[in-house]
Amino acid sequence: MTVTEPPHAPARTPLWEAPEALRRTDPQIADVLAAEAERRRDCLQLLAGENTASEAVLAALAGPLAHKYAEGYPGRRHHTGCAAADAAELLAVERARNLFGADHANVQPYTGTTAMLAAYAALLRPGDRVLAMSLQHGGHLTVGSQANFSGRWFQFTGYGVRRDDGLIDLDQVRDLARRHRPKAIVAGSITYPRHIDWAAFREIADEVGAYLVATAAQTLGLAAGGAAPSPVPYADVVAAVTHKMLRGPRGGLLLCTAELAERVDRAVSPFIQGGPSMHEVAAKAVAFAEAATPRYRDYVHAAVDNARALAAGLAGQGVRPLTGGTDTHLVTADVSALGITGREAERRCAAAGILLGKCALPYDTAPPAETSGLRLGTGCVTTAGLGAAEMAEAAVLAGRALRTADGGGELAARVRELARGPVPKR
Ligand SMILES: *Cc1c(COP(=O)(O)O)cnc(C)c1O
Repeated sequence: MTVTEPPHAPARTPLWEAPEALRRTDPQIADVLAAEAERRRDCLQLLAGENTASEAVLAALAGPLAHKYAEGYPGRRHHTGCAAADAAELLAVERARNLFGADHANVQPYTGTTAMLAAYAALLRPGDRVLAMSLQHGGHLTVGSQANFSGRWFQFTGYGVRRDDGLIDLDQVRDLARRHRPKAIVAGSITYPRHIDWAAFREIADEVGAYLVATAAQTLGLAAGGAAPSPVPYADVVAAVTHKMLRGPRGGLLLCTAELAERVDRAVSPFIQGGPSMHEVAAKAVAFAEAATPRYRDYVHAAVDNARALAAGLAGQGVRPLTGGTDTHLVTADVSALGITGREAERRCAAAGILLGKCALPYDTAPPAETSGLRLGTGCVTTAGLGAAEMAEAAVLAGRALRTADGGGELAARVRELARGPVPKR
């Protein structure tokens, strides 16, 4: 495989401009997109689910496979003219398998949510019991929310984290598994900042004869770069996305054992999806190749270092990081000591140009729309070339923003300067 390394830390890259064709045909949308590019450049982007994809990934997204219908799988499509689509998908699958050491990969899921839907469809029947992290403790909507298909179609039981140290209570997981005999146990979270003990989950699943599903959208990129333990050797099915730490296009990803390959493929298509987005599949292939480079390894390790610096800095501002810190790119923190809600904290930071998300905490007593917490991630800022010193400053700036109802003026100007990234060395 020959791929040149992606540009890490594209410091102070020129602002995106709408291509001439778009500007001519649709100046309104061209303006909307230009404004978005400017907003992204000027905000300290600490939303945990976002990243900035490389130019190569974006180029593949804008390429000719955007037009292609290729329902089915390579070599067995419902549509003709699929030579390039087949080649792109075979490359994407091969690269994903190599990157993660997985028996099988399905690169067609449109999103993380449809990847989870397909994982369930491959393993379960409606009405089956599933044990997963409770939504209050950091589970995604796809692990049992009543507003989501998962909660309507399966019977979920939730496990959580301990009140004292914020860590997953594996004794509780084992007790609940023995009591409820679930058909599947799901491990993974949108807020949990620590490594997950995949081997322990495997052991519990084996004891009760359950499948183990890893919902690893947040952390699979870290695993690809060796900065987190991989669920692949332990889980029957791993569901993830390519647009978070993997820095690829928006989209889902499934990895599974050879045994389940056919069931997973059929669960994706034709069971829940029609024709795949082949331009996204091509862009996923690009992202997997980039993630196999030493630069990407450096990137994910830097993202974890940055999150640790951010957590320590926030602690110094009276914003308590849950579990006392982080092993990942995620920081989940409690703002209640400042006398404000998570929602107000999010608003105050946004007013200063710092983007982060309010977040319900385990055992939170505030209403769900208000919350007592914040969730931050260092994926974007690390891609932008910021390091631990900048994270320490970001925490100080966030502390100032949290203590003022109006974050404009000098504070916002400093945030903007920090967000634009390091000035290139001459
Ligand atoms: C991001 C995420 C999802 C949802 O992915 P979408 O692409 O937005 O559907 C699901 N589960 C987990 C654990 C996630 O982190």
